[in-house]
Amino acid sequence: MNLVLFGPPGAGKGTQAKVLAERHGVPHISTGDIFRAALRQGTPLGLDAKRFMDAGQLVPDAVVCGMVRERLRERDAERGYVLDGFPRTIAQAVAFDEMLSADGSSIGKVISVEVADEELVRRLTGRRSCPVCGAAYHVESAPPKVAGACDACGSALVQREDDSEGVVRKRLEVYNAQTRPVAAYYQDRGVLQRIDGSGSIPDVLDRIEKALEDGGR
Ligand code: AMP
Repeated sequence: MNLVLFGPPGAGKGTQAKVLAERHGVPHISTGDIFRAALRQGTPLGLDAKRFMDAGQLVPDAVVCGMVRERLRERDAERGYVLDGFPRTIAQAVAFDEMLSADGSSIGKVISVEVADEELVRRLTGRRSCPVCGAAYHVESAPPKVAGACDACGSALVQREDDSEGVVRKRLEVYNAQTRPVAAYYQDRGVLQRIDGSGSIPDVLDRIEKALEDGGR
């Protein structure tokens, strides 16, 4: 399965991509996760990306594309992948086409998960996670039993720096200006399917699986 999960920040792409990748036996490749891991390790890539991430801006295309090119060459990606958070600009989409054709392959399916802006702000600003075990929460829709503490291990929950309201609004602005046009790019090529990203996680997952079946790829 070669799948690109497309959509604004907060649409639930990461959550869905993780489940889909496990179900279909392919790696989940999230450019945001790769940057955050690089940052935790203090590598130059991570430190460089941090400046852009903290400001809600996109990391430069050349950096992202080089990183994805390398990641797709890893062995586990031979059987396919679920890409989450890439491509985010037309230049990245063009570079991605070039990477694929260099390998004698072409774009698989692109599923766009659509959610209204105000709902995205609510979801992102309420998001919390456990820095120790990775459990995810939302202050309104999935609160921990004790406010601010992880149900599983009791650690203090944290908020991603770029989930503060000011940065969230900037990320949505950047999405609308630079990333939304990528959907039209794929629509013109006949590979885009739009699905409703509102409602529960299992409902959205069902819609994605149906879209995958309908396309038969
Ligand atoms: P995400 O976890 O996908 O929301 O990504 C977090 C941040 O990482 C974004 O706000 C960008 O600063 C950066 N980032 C992730 N993927 C890309 C990409 N494909 N192009 C540029 N920047 C990216």
